[in-house]
Amino acid sequence: MKKAKRKAKKPTKSPKSAKNWALKLVKDVWPQERDFMERPDRFRYVRKLLPDSTECVFCAAAKATKPSFDSLVLAMDEHCVVVMNKYPYNTGHLLVLPKKHVGNIWEIPDDVNTALAMWMKRATGILKDVLGCQGFNLGLNQGAVAGAGIPDHMHWHIVPRWGGDTNFFPLIAETKALPETLEQTYSRLEERFRK
Ligand SMILES: [Zn+2]
Repeated sequence: MKKAKRKAKKPTKSPKSAKNWALKLVKDVWPQERDFMERPDRFRYVRKLLPDSTECVFCAAAKATKPSFDSLVLAMDEHCVVVMNKYPYNTGHLLVLPKKHVGNIWEIPDDVNTALAMWMKRATGILKDVLGCQGFNLGLNQGAVAGAGIPDHMHWHIVPRWGGDTNFFPLIAETKALPETLEQTYSRLEERFRK
């Protein structure tokens, strides 16, 4: 009886043959010609990710005296700041946070908590009107173990949702494609927050 042929040879001899085998394998599973997405506008975004200091980014945002795209601050009052997320899960992903550097929700004074709730309500209303989203995920990751990126300064997430707004791309590439730039969304929203 004939033995079944092996489909791929194992690298058994020289480093050169191992390299050729690996190259063939890569070529087979990863075709050289493929579609790709050009997003030159993302460079501006990537540059914003580079930290200039070790200061808490939310405390830095809370020091802003007026809304601006540089700080991503959209609105503020005595106690709170509304900021656009630099790492949005979806278009219009906002963060609502206290100005004070507090990590735990149970340490938030009642008047600040009331102000945070007011901004959550106002921000969702503006997002609904400006972006036409059909729903939201509102959430707080309490503690690093729960997924908080900046656990020492608590912040509520407001993530706008549309029907069919998720696909395979974020799953395989850990990248979310957004239909407009951060700056475009910022300017549309900031105009409404000013009113
Ligand atoms: Zn802080």
